[in-house]
Amino acid sequence: MNKWSWIRRLGWGEICLLCGGPAHRHGLCAECTRDLPWIGIGCEVCGLPLTAPGVCGPCRQEPDRHPYRIHGVFAYECPIRSLVTAFKFHQGLAEGRVLAGLFATAMAVRAGTRPDVLVPVPLHPGRLRQRGYNQARILAHAVGREMGVAVQGDGVKRLRNTTPQTAIGMGRGRHSNVRGAFHCELDLKGRVVAIVDDVVTSGATVRALGDTLMKCGAEHIEVYGCARTPL
Ligand SMILES: [Zn+2]
Ligand SMILES: [Zn+2]
Repeated sequence: MNKWSWIRRLGWGEICLLCGGPAHRHGLCAECTRDLPWIGIGCEVCGLPLTAPGVCGPCRQEPDRHPYRIHGVFAYECPIRSLVTAFKFHQGLAEGRVLAGLFATAMAVRAGTRPDVLVPVPLHPGRLRQRGYNQARILAHAVGREMGVAVQGDGVKRLRNTTPQTAIGMGRGRHSNVRGAFHCELDLKGRVVAIVDDVVTSGATVRALGDTLMKCGAEHIEVYGCARTPL
């Protein structure tokens, strides 16, 4: 039996996880779904919210700050922040299911080119043992099902248990913290890869992973972030 099948058996549920009213889709009612902090228009490079389509100021000034295009579905604000926290740190699989459903449906519509493979950001084995699941991998499988794209969850490893990105300051520290943190055993020659993560913050983690995947032959890389925040 697939280890996630018991989660699937729970179904979407009929009660909205946020307000307790009747659920419409993905475990939320229509109103709560509408009121989520969706990123309607995101920067075409970094994915942060913009008021009009295009590229944001910082990305125009420094064209290689994000070498891999980041798509963000939600701003990391209430109630997305609490759903993600519950999913990541409090075994909140019901919250995870809501996020996965919304994220997957949105990505299937927003993604430009259909990737050949999805690669979730791996957890360090120590953290994986502690948590029991990799939240990015659960999200990637939901996106994969929705888009009909295979998920490559094995073959990419996290070598170092890096400090959570939110715990260290902005800038250089973040990049050196994750540099060389990943190891890839996959042959990605000529493949279009989408990296999947729950929260994309500075972009340093997905950049380090992307660089590793490029060394394994990936032709093009994009990043799908369920939530996107500059901080
Ligand atoms: Zn509701
Ligand atoms: Zn930008």
